[in-house]
Amino acid sequence: MAKILIPHNMVKEIYVCEICNFAYTKKELAEKCEDWCNKNKSCSLEITKKSIGALTQQ
Ligand SMILES: [Zn+2]
Repeated sequence: MAKILIPHNMVKEIYVCEICNFAYTKKELAEKCEDWCNKNKSCSLEITKKSIGALTQQ
């Protein structure tokens, strides 16, 4: 799981599922997502709806 620091923002830290790149403000959610993605090779809507958005990586 990637931990990303965002300076000068209300949200100081976000956690990103490295498989689907959805970002979360809670570590537990990112861990859940990554677990799910690993096992199911797809995303859980129940989890990703709590995401603050997907990151696109260059
Ligand atoms: Zn995921």
